[in-house]
Amino acid sequence: MEKVAIYPGSFDPLTNGHIDIVERGLRLFDRIIICVMCNSAKKTFFTVEERMEMLKVSLEGFQNIEVDRYEGLLVDYGAKRKARAILRGLRAVSDFEYEFQMAMMNRRLNREIQTVFLMTGFRWIFTSSSIIKEAARFGGDIHDMVPPVVNQKLIEKFKKTS
Ligand code: ADP
Repeated sequence: MEKVAIYPGSFDPLTNGHIDIVERGLRLFDRIIICVMCNSAKKTFFTVEERMEMLKVSLEGFQNIEVDRYEGLLVDYGAKRKARAILRGLRAVSDFEYEFQMAMMNRRLNREIQTVFLMTGFRWIFTSSSIIKEAARFGGDIHDMVPPVVNQKLIEKFKKTS
């Protein structure tokens, strides 16, 4: 049977760190469904549509991936898509507590789906969507940390809001 993993997140916006995790995940799974979760109380900078569009453009050259969105319980989505794993990325120790709690909760909710953590490439250890937005807001050059379409969108959006 096909080994499918769901890679859920806000992707607000997608960074090279996220792409690194997708690349690593594809060595373990036959297919990865990148799912923009849209039920969090978190207010996002980019709309779901913008985030999905940036993912699709940036991952155009990739095979065996799909970009989707979901509102609801992640494990329900996983079961619907017949996924055997939830893929998450780990950077520093600071990610661990939150990720651990979420993985435990998801396991309680559905014992059939395993959470798999992959360590990011060393160069992306300090890359996060929030720090990138913070730098871009004040005109910082972040082009080597995000795909070109994301860099462009950040520049445009901050121009409009400033
Ligand atoms: P969420 O809001 O669910 O944390 P994110 O889009 O911020 O969504 O992140 C999705 C997943 O990608 C999380 O597991 C996060 O730890 C991971 N991630 C984010 N940035 C990086 C990075 N630079 N390297 C590796 N993993 C990352």
